Amino acid sequence: MRAAVIGAGISGLTVARRLKEISSVEVEIYEQNSQVGGKILSHSYEGKIYELGAVVATPDYVLISQLVEELNIKKIMPEETTFINGLGSQVSIVSHIEERFGKAHLLKALAKFWRIIFDCPELLKAGFVGLDHRFFAPMARFAKDEGIEPVTELVRPFLTGCGYGYYEEVPAAYFLKLAPWVLKRGTLDALTLGLTSNWFFVEGGWKVLSDHLATNLKVHFNAHVSKIKRSVHGVTVETSNGEARFDLVILACDPRSYMSFLDYTAEEHALALQVKYIPYLVTLAQVPGGKTTAFIDSTTRMAVGSVNYIVRPHFDSDVCQIYQILPPKIDEDFLRHERVKAAQLCGGGVEKEILKKYWTYFPHVDSNSCFNRFYDRMQNLQGKNRTFYVGGFLSFESLEHAAEFSRGIADNIVSQLEF
Ligand SMILES: Cc1cc2nc3c(=O)[nH]c(=O)nc-3n(C[C@H](O)[C@H](O)[C@H](O)COP(=O)(O)OP(=O)(O)OC[C@H]3O[C@@H](n4cnc5c(N)ncnc54)[C@H](O)[C@@H]3O)c2cc1C
Repeated sequence: MRAAVIGAGISGLTVARRLKEISSVEVEIYEQNSQVGGKILSHSYEGKIYELGAVVATPDYVLISQLVEELNIKKIMPEETTFINGLGSQVSIVSHIEERFGKAHLLKALAKFWRIIFDCPELLKAGFVGLDHRFFAPMARFAKDEGIEPVTELVRPFLTGCGYGYYEEVPAAYFLKLAPWVLKRGTLDALTLGLTSNWFFVEGGWKVLSDHLATNLKVHFNAHVSKIKRSVHGVTVETSNGEARFDLVILACDPRSYMSFLDYTAEEHALALQVKYIPYLVTLAQVPGGKTTAFIDSTTRMAVGSVNYIVRPHFDSDVCQIYQILPPKIDEDFLRHERVKAAQLCGGGVEKEILKKYWTYFPHVDSNSCFNRFYDRMQNLQGKNRTFYVGGFLSFESLEHAAEFSRGIADNIVSQLEF
């Protein structure tokens, strides 16, 4: 049995590695770039590593934490994260929310929030199949209906800051996957954005992890897949280097990519068209002076283009990673002006911009698609036409969810082979 995996991001690497671990399936990975990782993109500058893609992990990341331990990679704790409110002042996010809603309301909402999570542990798992429909309402409406606004507002700067879109637009299910990991349980005094307490980066960057996952796997680099043809006899994968035959294909890139080369069916086409993305920009810049790891209150669509998040990963360097969700029409002067403004709010200034990386990020669907059974329909496609699908659009766009989902698909493939 031969399987082709298209894409060597964490999803493709995990599915390939797991298949190799538990079966005799021969796996070959096709990757259009000259390196593995996809949205894991660690960049070396003046002897230090900066992340242009995935940034932080939490100890709640089970598979990722296991790999970090296994590889004995040193964890790096970020500097304390501050919050900059709409008036441009650095404030404690908890006091800010307490002032806005009152302590009693916040405490009540916290209790309700944890009850929701306890009653639905599936929320924390990768994927969205089988979730109660109430989680498909946009987050802003869900929070209001459930009376948990003070809690969801507490994590909003973090979730939007990390590029996961806006509460008014994105279904609650997406935000609820990460919110419990951001908001550590504890007394109100101990409540912090999880980031300040136990989130971590890794020495050498996440690249160390993706390179490790690729060890002993057959990866074709610079192999842009241009066509896939499927029939009852098998699957043909075409790249500029020629074509090869397989028994099945695992699509480990987002639908926008695979629709450009797949001999898609009407159902695949209809579903792929529903997937939305967030245009996201990461700028590496020298920001001398100031205290520069902060979430900024740019959490509604009105603030699109403003800086959401600014991270200084190394205590002994003033180089920062600056994050912006982009408007449909890009105005470079405006975006740069916003970066300068954000640096000033942190008490520093942008001295030099080193590089920029534009992403098509956070593949997701809207509430209507969720209500119209997008995830059940995608699930029904798994295994049909010799094809399986993995990736952020099915799992949720994080390292842990992508890895967990891919592992599950590999197990699923092997269990089908055993029949
Ligand atoms: C700026 C940014 C910050 C992030 N921060 C975090 C974070 O802090 N914590 C966290 O957990 N997650 C974070 N993420 C999300 C995380 O990085 C992703 O969820 C995860 O890496 C997705 O992996 P994937 O394998 O599903 O997709 P990808 O990494 O997108 O992999 C898809 C691969 O397919 C390849 N491909 C596409 N088309 C073709 C083709 N035609 N032929 C061959 N190959 C093809 C691509 O080159 C790519 O390598 C962040 C992402 C970004 C961009």
